[in-house]
Formats: sequence, structure tokens, C-alpha cells
Amino acid sequence: MPVLHSALLDSAGFRHGFPTRDTPEDALLQALGAPRIVQARQVHGARAVLAVEAAGQEADALVARAGQGEACVGVRVADCVPVLVASRATGDVVAIHAGWRGVVAGVVRAGVELLGGADRVAAIGPCIGPCCFEVGRDVGARVGFVARDAGDKAFVDLRAAVRAHLAALGVDEVDDVLGCTKHEARFHSFRRDGADSGRMLASIAARPTRV
Ligand SMILES: [Zn+2]
Repeated sequence: MPVLHSALLDSAGFRHGFPTRDTPEDALLQALGAPRIVQARQVHGARAVLAVEAAGQEADALVARAGQGEACVGVRVADCVPVLVASRATGDVVAIHAGWRGVVAGVVRAGVELLGGADRVAAIGPCIGPCCFEVGRDVGARVGFVARDAGDKAFVDLRAAVRAHLAALGVDEVDDVLGCTKHEARFHSFRRDGADSGRMLASIAARPTRV
């Protein structure tokens, strides 16, 4: 299975990839043109850090600046929403891990604000869809974007929540790389596979040179 791409990020000149469960790591690194992908310890919070300072840090958004080392960042997901945002103006990028807790805590805002820049484009990758994301009504009320009520449960559209947060931050050019991780076997899903579930490393590289 090849790495999934956003046509919008491709057209803006940003190397990136949303792997599936069958994507070999080599194929992902090849798509990124990078020898390694910087990651942080994800904790479903709203902290954003720079890739050059990420070692050992707890963070759910990682920013890579153009023209510096450690220029490729990734977030591990299996149902949570992977969000990749880039500035055409600076060549900087951010990878954001947005589960419902992170969305409520404001991780999208934290990531985009640390990214800065202008003329930003984004891609929202495969995640658990409103078809499958059943939560308690209390969680539905906190996240919003309830697609369907079902007794004391609610089905939430996390992708729509992320898109709304991006729009509120002035990121209007947003591409959807579609797929529901839970009911499509080509993806890893924590809800489906439990503690044995693998993770998919959604990643993006900053431009190699600063404008
Ligand atoms: Zn589904």
C-alpha cells in the first residue's frame, strides 16, 4: 500500500505522507525525502514544541522550521486525527495529533500559532469517522460536532471539529485525505484492535531552504 497524499500539500511543494497499516517505513521516508522523522511523547494535550527541542518532550504538535536540521516531523495515530499544516510564505510546517481530548484542549490552535507564517495550507488525514466514533453524551457535548445522537451515546465528527478550529485560525485551504480508521481494514485502529493496535506516522517535511 502506497503512502496517501494530499493534492493540496503536493501542489504547495511540501513533502508529506499519511501511511496506512501496510506502508513500509522505507516508503514513508522516501516520500518525505528525509532520513528520519522527529517525534515527541504524545499525551493528548495541547502543547506545541519545535522539532529541534522535541527530544524527550511531551507534546502533541511539532513544528519544523524551513532551512534547519530536524526538518521532518510526524505524529502517531490510530483513530485520532492527524493534521499537517504548512506555510507557503515561510516553508515551515506543523504535525498535530488531535484526538478528542486534544481538540477540546486546543491543540490545533497551539500548533498553528507556533507555526505562524502566512498563506497556510492544511491536510486532515484518515481518522475515526462519525460513522464509528461513539462517545458518551458528555464527551459529545464537550467536543461538539455531534453527527448523530443514540440514546445516552453520541457519534462525533472529529474531522469537522478540526476543520472548524483551522478555519477559526484563518486556515481556509484544507484538504481531506479521507478514510475511517475503525471500519476500514487498511488502517490501524485503537478502537478496533485495542492495546495491540499499531500506529501510523503521519509526517511532513519543512522546505529545505528558507525563503
Ligand atoms: Zn467508520
